[in-house]
Amino acid sequence: MDYHLKCTLCGAEYDAKDVRYVCPKHGDDGILDTIFDYKQIAGKTSPKKISDSRDFSIWRYAELLPLEDPSKSAPPLQVGWTPMYRSTTLGKQLGLSNLYFKDDGRNPTASFKDRASAVVVAKARELGVDIITTASTGNAGAALAGLAAAAKMPAVIFVPETAPQAKIAQLLIFGSRVMLVKGNYDQAVALCLAASKEFGWYCRNTAYNPYTVEGKKTASFEICEQLILTPTLSLEGRGRKGEGWGAPDRIFVSVGDGNIISGLWKGLRDLAALGWIDKIPKLMGIQAEGSAACYNAWKAGTEKITAVNAVTVADSISADIPLDGVRAVRAVRETGGAYLTVSDDEILAAIPELARGEAIFAEPAASTAYAGLKKAVKQGLVKSDETIVCMITGNGLKDIKSAMQVAGEGIHIEPTLEAVKAFKL
Ligand SMILES: *Cc1c(COP(=O)(O)O)cnc(C)c1O
Ligand SMILES: [Zn+2]
Repeated sequence: MDYHLKCTLCGAEYDAKDVRYVCPKHGDDGILDTIFDYKQIAGKTSPKKISDSRDFSIWRYAELLPLEDPSKSAPPLQVGWTPMYRSTTLGKQLGLSNLYFKDDGRNPTASFKDRASAVVVAKARELGVDIITTASTGNAGAALAGLAAAAKMPAVIFVPETAPQAKIAQLLIFGSRVMLVKGNYDQAVALCLAASKEFGWYCRNTAYNPYTVEGKKTASFEICEQLILTPTLSLEGRGRKGEGWGAPDRIFVSVGDGNIISGLWKGLRDLAALGWIDKIPKLMGIQAEGSAACYNAWKAGTEKITAVNAVTVADSISADIPLDGVRAVRAVRETGGAYLTVSDDEILAAIPELARGEAIFAEPAASTAYAGLKKAVKQGLVKSDETIVCMITGNGLKDIKSAMQVAGEGIHIEPTLEAVKAFKL
């Protein structure tokens, strides 16, 4: 596939063979977009061809990914094609008639991050690198550890030593070298970058590696394809009935570094450029009140991201300086969406609501998107008949300490029927 890289800050363009990570003109901040030749893609594939594919993973979109030949380089784990459920309960409670939940906790290491790590590991194999590394709050590392294990590639992962135990267990069990950094995520990022430069390890750091966003964009492809496939959705006015796919009106997603929302936006722009969708959904970025650098910049009408001192129960979206902040602010501004913040209490309360209403168990950073949707409805930001997708980015088993705070109590009883009778429902 023909593609080249373009700086999001100065617009300089590069051959992907010459630049591996960022635009050399701005130190480590010149995040690069991948630019495709859409005519060439349209000559090779079509929505129908993809929808006929029996490959139920992100690799069904191989022709839209910046890789030479995923059939040779893709690690053998099923990433993507996660379920998108039509809401049974919470939509009604909120007065929304077309609400969907896309459950990315159903990925192999139980978070959205598998999409990025799968594409970056495939790229690493193409490049023939020996060792791959990343910094992570936990999920990106777990995803890299799992996909590197699948590809038999050694990985070195840097996480804050305070990461939830389940995430650290994932890193260790897949056999990565695990560096438990006595510091926060931002310090782990800086250390990983320095180690990558010193030792020549291939660096997956979010946004610094241009292909994380390319992996994450596959979620938008799935959303638009699955909206057509979801039988309960009226196709009227959406997609092109068999020729194209259906874009929702809005997508709610939690934002930490801003790479997921940037990835969703990139996927939508790819589809719009190909003419496979006829509108770009409004992107709704939800941040924790205690980690709201993107929200602050958007609110102030600037792209200048000012560091915060991030503190939130939602560890996966805790970032002092978002690594993909500029693009994340643009994604919301240019799609006509909005940023909202929610409190830790609202984030935690959303976990049992999702579990009891839709039977989806979300970690705090994932329930954040639903907490934001509730707030948006309250503020009158959405119309009742809009088609809305709420991205659930990670599984609740990742952080049971948080879940147990809001799960309620079990009933301790003697092993007798009398004891059960005493607690009749
Ligand atoms: C990483 C992550 C996010 C946020 O993605 P960013 O690219 O950092 O904005 C949200 N939810 C979960 C579960 C994550 O792991
Ligand atoms: Zn540049």
